[in-house]
Amino acid sequence: MASTRAVLATARLRHPHPQTTLSLIKPISTPSKPQQPSQSLRKYTTTATTTQSSPRPARTSSKSRRIPLLVTAAILGSTIYYLASPPSRPTLLNTETFVPYTITSREAISPTSFIFTISPHAPNPSLPYLVPSTSSWRYPLWSVEFKQPQVQIARHYTPLPPHDDGQQQQQQQRQDPADGSLSFYVRAIGGGEMSTYLSRLGVGQDVWLRGPHVGFDVVARLGEMDNVVFLAGGTGVVPAMQVAKAVLDKSPEAHVTLLWAIRRREELQQQQASTVRKKQQPSWWQFWAATKNSGEPEELTAQLQHPSPIAKQLTALKEKHGQRLHIQVAIDEEQTHFRELDLQRAIISPGPPLSSSSSSSSSPRRSTSASGCRLHDSAMLELAPEFEAPAAADDCKCGRGAGKNLFLVSGPDGFVAHYAGPKRWLGGQQVQGPVGGVAARLQRRYPWLADDWLVLKL
Ligand SMILES: Cc1cc2nc3c(=O)[nH]c(=O)nc-3n(C[C@H](O)[C@H](O)[C@H](O)COP(=O)(O)OP(=O)(O)OC[C@H]3O[C@@H](n4cnc5c(N)ncnc54)[C@H](O)[C@@H]3O)c2cc1C
Repeated sequence: MASTRAVLATARLRHPHPQTTLSLIKPISTPSKPQQPSQSLRKYTTTATTTQSSPRPARTSSKSRRIPLLVTAAILGSTIYYLASPPSRPTLLNTETFVPYTITSREAISPTSFIFTISPHAPNPSLPYLVPSTSSWRYPLWSVEFKQPQVQIARHYTPLPPHDDGQQQQQQQRQDPADGSLSFYVRAIGGGEMSTYLSRLGVGQDVWLRGPHVGFDVVARLGEMDNVVFLAGGTGVVPAMQVAKAVLDKSPEAHVTLLWAIRRREELQQQQASTVRKKQQPSWWQFWAATKNSGEPEELTAQLQHPSPIAKQLTALKEKHGQRLHIQVAIDEEQTHFRELDLQRAIISPGPPLSSSSSSSSSPRRSTSASGCRLHDSAMLELAPEFEAPAAADDCKCGRGAGKNLFLVSGPDGFVAHYAGPKRWLGGQQVQGPVGGVAARLQRRYPWLADDWLVLKL
C-alpha cells in the first residue's frame, strides 16, 4: 500500500519529537568536584600529625593538657569532614546520576546501524534491573538513557535481551547478565546528536548512562490472555525482543507474532547482501509464483543465510520457542511492507495454525470487563505515559482470569502514528492518546477487538 510505503520510507527510527525527548530526560546532574573529600581529609590529618609529632620538650602537666585538646580537635575535624564531604559518586546504575561504562565490543550491521556492548567500570552483583540473586531481568520492557557529555543531552536506548540459547552462546560472545554488561542496537540518524556521537565511539571508550527506566508491564497487562502481536520498525525490534522473551518465558500458552519492518536487507542478512538478493531472484519458471507473492513480507526461519547479529538472536529465540514465536520481515527497499491485511491476519487469527487459542471467531476467549483498571481499561490507557511503575498485585481491578491480548507498535513517530495513531501531549508529558491509524480501522471492522486487545504505542 502506497501510504504504508511512504511512511516506511520516511520514517527512520524511533525518533521522539524534541518535546518528547525533553520530557523523558531528567536534568543532567552536574558532577560534584571529586577532589574535595580527599583534600579536606589530607589537610586535617596533616595538622593532627604535625601537632602530635612536635619534638618540643614539654612538662608533663602541659602534655596532659594537650591530649584532650588533640582528641577534641580530631573529633571536631572528623565531624566537619563527614558533614562537608559531598557524597561519593555512585558507580551502580541508577535513575538519578550517570555512571561510566566502557565499550567492550562494537559490530557494524549496515552503514548506519551497529551493535555495541558495554561493561560497568565497577562490577556490582546488585544490578537494579535483575531479580535479586539471579541473572533474570526484572522488567519485561525497559531502557536506559545515554548522555552526550559535550552538549549535555540524553536519549533512551533499549538493551538487547541476553542470549539464553546454549548453541547460540557458544557461537557468539557470551553476555552474562550478572556481570552488568549490556548490548544495544543503534541507528545513526543523519544530524542526530546522540546517535551520531555513539556511532563514532570505539572499543575502550567510555559512555555514561542512567536507568533503568521501566516501560509498560506487558506481562501484567497480558494477564490470562495469550496473544501478543508486535509491529516493530527498525531498531524498534529490540523492545519487541524484550517483550517476546518475557512473555514466552513466562507462559507456555503464550504466542507472539513479531512483524519487523526494515529499510534495507543488511539489517537482516549480512555478507554480500546483494548476492543474497540475487540468489533470491526467481528463475523464469518461478516467475508467476513470485509475482503472485510480491509485496508479501517473508518468514524468518532458522535456515536464513548470512544472518545479521540481530537476525541470529531472532532465530535463536525462534528455535527456543518454536511455533509459539512467528516472525515476519518486510523490507522497504524491496517493496515489501505490512499492510492492513497482514495485521488483520496476525490479530484475528493469532497463534500456531492448529491452536485453539483465543480471539479466533470460532473459539473466542474474551477478556473480562476492565472498567477502572489501570492495566486493562483502554480509556485509562489513553492517558498513560510509556514509562510506568511495575504492576502491583492489587493493580488489576478486573477479577479472576483478567487480561488483554496486546498489539504493540514500536518505531519512529510516523511509523507508530500510521499503524496505531499518534501519541499525545498532556500536562507536559507524552501519553498514548486514542487508538488511530490501521489499528482503529480494524477496530471499526471488528468491534470486539477493542474489548479483547490493548494497543500500546512505544
Ligand atoms: C524508550 C526509547 C527507547 C529507544 N531505544 C532505541 C534503541 O534501542 N536504538 C536506537 O537506535 N534508538 C532508540 N531510541 C531512539 C533514541 O532515543 C533517539 O531518539 C535516536 O537515537 C535519535 O536521537 P539523536 O539525538 O541522534 O537525534 P536528534 O538530535 O534527536 O535529532 C536530530 C535531527 O534528526 C531528526 N531525526 C531524529 N530521529 C529521526 C528519525 N528517526 N527519522 C528521521 N529524522 C530523525 C530530527 O528531526 C532532528 O532534526 C529509543 C527511544 C525511546 C523513547
